[in-house]
Order: sequence, then structure tokens, then C-alpha cells
Amino acid sequence: MTPLDSAWISANPAPVHGRGTTKNSRGKVLAIGGSARVPGALRLTGEAALRVGAGKLQMATIASAATMLGLLVPEAAAIALPEDADGEIHIDAVDTLEAAINGCDTLVIGPGIGSPEASSRILRMVAGQRRDDMMLVVDAMAIGCIKALRAELAGFAGQWVLTPHHGEMAVLTGRDEDAVADDPAGIAVEVAAHYGAVVALKGSDTVIAGPDGTLLHYGGGGTGLATGGSGDVLAGAIAGLLSRGAPPLEATGWGVWLHGQSGRRVATTSGPIGFLAREVPAEFPRLLPQ
Ligand code: AMP
Ligand code: MG
Repeated sequence: MTPLDSAWISANPAPVHGRGTTKNSRGKVLAIGGSARVPGALRLTGEAALRVGAGKLQMATIASAATMLGLLVPEAAAIALPEDADGEIHIDAVDTLEAAINGCDTLVIGPGIGSPEASSRILRMVAGQRRDDMMLVVDAMAIGCIKALRAELAGFAGQWVLTPHHGEMAVLTGRDEDAVADDPAGIAVEVAAHYGAVVALKGSDTVIAGPDGTLLHYGGGGTGLATGGSGDVLAGAIAGLLSRGAPPLEATGWGVWLHGQSGRRVATTSGPIGFLAREVPAEFPRLLPQ
């Protein structure tokens, strides 16, 4: 297993956009997620994407939260989706998403969604609109939904990243969490090969597996990152790096490293535990190559 350390970071540079860069050249991210229960999740994901330098951001969420989300992240466009009686994205919302999906470079689906039905319906639609130049990050509950959609999503091989924690990996693989904890590297490699995806299996130690069996390990983030919303930030960082043109393994490696190192930087001023997930993305620009 290769350590995800400063040597890896130097050997695998993040995309550099110099003088003359435009917001269009750094890509458009579409984040889909949120619910009445977790209406702010996309703020974390969206800000993280912008803080790694994505050019443009659209956030699609339930109608009752969309305006407030747009005000919380005034740099982004907000798309209001129909909402069901449980405060989840309505499964008919996909029609509202069609144009945005066609217009984006990178999609991130899952943060804050509590409905497997909505997640599956959105993923199915995205599969139908896949382009060769489109990248996809699947996070949170949406990860469990890819199992039943494997054939439809097969076209994303080489174009997508999954970011499960141990519990989400257990759901995806039908094993229990102890089995995932016993062999995180083996399971991440297996899932990466099965889906043709880069897999970041998250925890205090995060293992990143590529579909070709590449394995990276990062354990440097610090316990303060074990906090609500932390994974939503990571998914956004990876999406932003993909939209800037980093290939999936590099985007994931850089995302995990930036997330961890930024957590450590916040901890030096705030203390090791008790900082907020929303405080992490502001550190990203200082750690990115200029
Ligand atoms: P999530 O559970 O989706 O919010 O993701 C949690 C994020 O925090 C992942 O990026 C984990 O790798 C990270 N994380 C969780 N616990 C720890 C810990 N004890 N030390 C360092 N990083 C952690
Ligand atoms: Mg999460």
C-alpha cells in the first residue's frame, strides 16, 4: 500500500490553472442532495468544490431549502427540486435536473439525501445522460443504491468515485461493519474492480483503491475530522478537483490529503476536537499548488 504523503503529492501534481484561466476552464460542478432533515449538507459540499478551485457551482436541493442555500453560498446557482411529504427530493424531480446534468462537467450525488428511492431515480437519470467527459462522485446513502444499478452505471467505469464510510461500504457489499474493518484494503480493491470506480473507504485511516488494484493509504487527518458534515466536505473537494481536470485517482488522493491536512491546520488554531466541518474548506487554497 502506497502512503498518501508529501512524496505522493509531489509526484502526482494537482491541476494548475495559470494566468488566463477562466471559470469555464476550471469546470462546472453540479451537487445534488439535501433534505428537510439535512438541508445544509450541500453548503459543505459546494463550498469545498469552490475552495479547491472549481469554476462554477450549481446546487440542486429540495425547494423549501433551495433559496436559503443559495443565500448561504451566493457564489452558486441554486436549483429548486420538487419535494415529497417526507421532505426528501421527489422522485419526479429528475425532469427539473435534465438541463443541469447536461450542462455540468462533474456531478456529486448523495450528501444529505435520506431517500434511497430518490437517490436511485437520480442515479438512473444520470446514467442515461452520461457523456465520456462527465465525472461522477457518489456519496452517502446514494452509494448503497449503485448495487441495483450496476449495469446501468457501467458506462461510468473510469469516470467515477465512491466515498463510503465503513457503514456505507457494509450496505453496498452486504457484509457487516466488522468485516469491513477487518479488511478495508481488500474490500476497497474488490469494490473498485467490480464497479470500475475509485473507492475512498473513509475512517481514521482512509484507504483509496483504483480499479486497477492501486492502493493508497492516508491516516493523518486527526480526530477532529470525525464530526458531522466532514464527509460532505470531502465529496465536494474530490468533485471540484475532477472538474478541474484531475483524473479520478489523483482527484481522490488530493481530496483526501487536502481534507486531512486542512483538518490538521484548523486543529492547530481551534484545538484538536470541536472545530466545524464548515471551517475546513477555507484551508484548501493555501495547500493547493498555484
Ligand atoms: P463521513 O462519515 O461521511 O462524515 O466522513 C467522515 C470523514 O472524516 C472522512 O473523510 C473520514 O476519513 C474522516 N474521519 C472520520 N473519523 C476520523 C478520525 N478519527 N481521524 C481522522 N479522520 C477521520
Ligand atoms: Mg457522509
